[in-house]
Amino acid sequence: MKKSALNFLAVFILTLLGFYSHAQTGGSYAGHVHSKGYAGMDAKSDLVLYEFERRAVGDDDILIDVLYSGICHSDIHTVKGDWGGTPYPCVPGHEIVGRVSQVGKDVHKFKVGDIAGVGCMVNSCGECEYCKAGEEQYCAKGATYTYGSGEGDGYTKGGYSNNIVLKESFALKVPDNAPLDKVAPLLCAGITTYSPLRYNHVKKGDKVAVAGFGGLGHMAVQYAIAMGAEVTVFDITEDKRQVALDMGAVKYVNTKNESEMQGLNNSFNLLISTIPFSFKVEPYMAMLKVDGTMVLLGVPPRDQVPSLSTNALWGRRKIYYSLIGGIPETQEMLDYSIKNNIYPKVEVIPIQQINEAYKNVLDGKVQFRYVIDMASLK
Ligand code: NDP
Ligand code: ZN
Repeated sequence: MKKSALNFLAVFILTLLGFYSHAQTGGSYAGHVHSKGYAGMDAKSDLVLYEFERRAVGDDDILIDVLYSGICHSDIHTVKGDWGGTPYPCVPGHEIVGRVSQVGKDVHKFKVGDIAGVGCMVNSCGECEYCKAGEEQYCAKGATYTYGSGEGDGYTKGGYSNNIVLKESFALKVPDNAPLDKVAPLLCAGITTYSPLRYNHVKKGDKVAVAGFGGLGHMAVQYAIAMGAEVTVFDITEDKRQVALDMGAVKYVNTKNESEMQGLNNSFNLLISTIPFSFKVEPYMAMLKVDGTMVLLGVPPRDQVPSLSTNALWGRRKIYYSLIGGIPETQEMLDYSIKNNIYPKVEVIPIQQINEAYKNVLDGKVQFRYVIDMASLK
């Protein structure tokens, strides 16, 4: 065969192989998955449309086409650099529900077409005592978070995007007849509040307080009531008083009214704070009964971290930080929520409204969780 004919044949075969691999990998050459989403490019600017590549789908990975993605206050903290260390461009989103569109050869938990959920983590060492105990969020080597964590040569990118690739063991099973827009926020707001209530064995008759009645807070209230507790809610607005009472809270305290904060000392077995900014911790500690526990969930900006006098710990009162929940407990929380019909109150928005939504969360204008309908991402 002539040299030119050989060249032509080689090019023809390579082109065919290229098409084949393109078809096998969901639309991307060289195995990488092409993605588009919304990203913060720095701490100050609005989020903008951003295209990027995700890693190829490995043997124990799944590719999910994202259907809904919740907006957590942590996304806003991260994009705005509140905690420091945010790698940009930052594609946030760790309350993800979507449909599996590709599976690696060693995947057993999912098949193409299944609905899957993704929360705040996509990997961990799998070998330390915490990972072995199903508490991957406390992995001794540091869990890989859904966005902003080192992965390969780059870092992870989250669910404000059309797809995501992750290890199947970090994805959660979701029945496809569940209300998927409402399921998305369970993946962070749900597990983060369910976990400390379970850890503290909340039971019928317990007196539980929830400070910060937003995305996380309104889930904490619903779970605590479902577990039989008498729940008091603290927030800084009048706008949410009726919703809290309608939800079954026995009392609502607008902390801006000094008088409403009086007479509550020695009242609660458990107090959960989801407050995302600095606040005075001591008055809340004084509201705990002897042996009572305060759980901090809110993570204020690093220049607003509240401090605490050890005097507040008299009477065996305890305080600690809790971080999301492990994968087995996240599955338990999903099953529990779906079985007991416990869902967030959501406002579904197109992704083009993301920057307005961020502003509204900061201004206390959302009741209670924005969820992005990813079909809007064209
Ligand atoms: P939201 O903004 O939805 O809710 C926060 C709520 O706190 C709002 O209702 C807000 O009031 C209220 N609030 C603000 N300041 C005060 C105050 N001084 N006293 C009482 N209430 C107050 O945020 P999220 O629920 O999404 O997140 C809350 C925090 O939890 C964030 O810091 C987030 O980063 C963190 N988080 C932590 C996790 C963990 O694993 N520990 C996981 C997920 C989130 P209003 O809006 O009515 O003005
Ligand atoms: Zn979150």
